[in-house]
Parts: sequence; C-alpha cells; structure tokens
Amino acid sequence: MVDLKGQYLKIKEEVDKGINEVIENTAFINGPAVKEFQSDLEKYLSVKYVIPCANGTDALQIAMMALDLKPGDELITANFTYVATAEVIGLLGLTPVLVDVYPDTFTIDVAAIEKAITPKTKAIVPVHLYGQCAEMEEIIALAKKHNLYVIEDVAQAIGADYVMKDGSKHKAGTIGTIGCTSFFPSKNLGCYGDGGAIYTNDDELAKKLKMIAHHGQSVQYVHDVLGVNSRLDTIQAAVLKVKLKHLDEYAAARNRAAAHYDKVLANHPKVKIPVRVKNSTHVFHQYTLQLNGVDSPDSYRGKMREYLAERNIPSMIYYPIPLHMQNAYKSDRYKSGDFPVTEKLCASVISLPMHTELDQETLNYITDNVLEFLNKS
Ligand SMILES: *Cc1c(COP(=O)(O)O)cnc(C)c1O
Repeated sequence: MVDLKGQYLKIKEEVDKGINEVIENTAFINGPAVKEFQSDLEKYLSVKYVIPCANGTDALQIAMMALDLKPGDELITANFTYVATAEVIGLLGLTPVLVDVYPDTFTIDVAAIEKAITPKTKAIVPVHLYGQCAEMEEIIALAKKHNLYVIEDVAQAIGADYVMKDGSKHKAGTIGTIGCTSFFPSKNLGCYGDGGAIYTNDDELAKKLKMIAHHGQSVQYVHDVLGVNSRLDTIQAAVLKVKLKHLDEYAAARNRAAAHYDKVLANHPKVKIPVRVKNSTHVFHQYTLQLNGVDSPDSYRGKMREYLAERNIPSMIYYPIPLHMQNAYKSDRYKSGDFPVTEKLCASVISLPMHTELDQETLNYITDNVLEFLNKS
C-alpha cells in the first residue's frame, strides 16, 4: 500500500545525516531536533503551539485529559474511524457517543452530531478521514452554540487546508480547540517508528498539554496534575524535520495518483470514486472506492482483493467493522440499523495503493487490473 523505501532513498543523505547527528550527540531524549521540528511544524501549520508526543493515540488521550472532563461526560465522534479515536474516550472513563458519517465524503454527519447532543455532551471529535477535513464550519458553529470543545483527529489529514466562509484558510487540526496527529510510518508525514503531536492556539491549554505529556510536571519534580510519559524521540524528530520540507510535494504526488484513479474509474457503473468535501483540500492518505453497483459487495470485494493480490496489487479495507459492532464498544445505547451509512461503507469500501512513489506505469498497471476485474466479474 505504501513505498517507504522508495521515498527514503530520495532523501537518504539528509535523513541519515540527521539520525547520525542524534547518535553522535547521544541526544536521544528531547534533543535539539525535537524543538526544531516542533517550531518548523508550528510555522508550517500557522499554529501557536505544537506539542510533540509519542504517538497519535497519546495525542488524543492527552488532549482529552487537558479538558477537565468528568467520568460520564459524552464525546461525540464518528462511528466510521480507526479505533484509537473512541478507545481513548473509553479509557478515560468518558462516554464515546458514536454517530454516522456522510455516504459520499466519509466524514462525520453534522446533523447526526446535533441529534446526539445531550446536557452531558462536552466535546465533538471530528475525524478528517482519509485525508480531507470534516465539515468544520458547521461543526464549529454547532460547538459554539452548545458550548462544546472540538478535538480534531487529524492523524490522516496533516497538511490539508480548510477554507471558512469568511475566506480564511486553515490547516486541518488548527480550527478546533485542539488538533491531534500521528507520525506513524504510513501516515502522510510518517517517521521511522512511532510519533505524534498535539496542536492548539490556546496559551493556557498549551501549558497544560505540555505538562500532562510530561508526567504532569510544572517544575522538575513538582507534579501538579495527573500526567503520562509521552515524548517524540529525537531520532524520529530528525527524520520528520527532513520530511516536513517535502510534505506539500508528497501531497501533490498523492493527488496525481488520485487524479489518475478518478479519471479511469469515474464513470464505471460498479464503483463510486471518493467525493471531495467542498471547502477542504484532500491529501489522500487513502484513496477509497465504494463498490456500489454490485450485489453483495462484501463478497465481491473479497474476490476483487484476491484477484488484485494474485497480480501483486495490495488493497485494504479501512474499516471492516463499525465500532458499535466491536465487542469492546457495544452499548445499549445503539441498536442495529442506527448507522446505515457506516454499516454499508464497512461492507463496500476498498482502498487502492496510495503513496508518494506511484509512477504512471504502476498506476496504469493497477487500474488496468482493477478494470479487468470489474468488467468480467
Ligand atoms: C493512525 C490513527 C490514529 C492513531 O495514531 P497512532 O500514532 O497509531 O497512535 C488515530 N486516529 C486515526 C484516524 C488514525 O488514522
């Protein structure tokens, strides 16, 4: 699905130099590269504070710990997402309230959020799934009206832009109260291990987030709040510093691949290409088709994946099981049929290879084989 080796070879010299410097200086924890990357990322995002941490899941957890929520408080998030989003809510004794997504853009359904708001609701956690923003203008308006926090899960959409009605342009993750991202190797800005970051424009929250990520410590050995130990390794920061300079170029390469897939598959009766959110750019963390024009898409999809795999073309299903049907997240709150869109998507989505190193020959090979399968099966 990704070609991290090909990408590495193009930046090898700079990356190796950065990693070697860390080793030479034995500055493994909180070395200079961490601060430098943090400041580079703040500039790139035009956000006041970036707080690096150990991974995207920690970023979400630390964000939620910083908001003084009480057990039983409700956080509304998308049912159709990676498990981490709901996991940390549960882990903190808070209540994840799952809602459906839009059938065309895959992002959280704003009307469904509004319906799910109760006096216990404290935050909305939109997920910028597959690389484009949820409908942030409407979400922010709803949050203002009901006095809610907005925690953006931007693990899949670093670098995407969202344009508000007033014309102002914002990077994904810098619009809500707090943004949370991941530098997992296969993410759009991926390091060579685990990594994550939290963004905010709020001075007080920034202090608190930093403190929580660092054992709740204000001054050395003085612990004011319950915290965790969550750091970005210096080696990872050294890699990220180099890769951040290429992030826009990487997004452009992903968009070129997506444009090819779009062009070839747009009018095919058996598939539906991904629809763009009107006010967001797309950084195509994933290129995800829906098998809409076939009977029993689930089994058709299985055959399609097998057919492609036999021709050395990987494909993935993000995500095969809705959260409300996972044993860990089952709840009396939900009954079957509550999430028609999510259930349909889980049975019918398929993601094609998407990364920065897809050349025209490879793209043609992929779409030739996809078409061959669709036309004969
Ligand atoms: C990857 C991902 C996370 C978690 O990031 P990790 O760094 O793996 O902990 C959270 N949310 C979404 C939507 C993701 O895709």
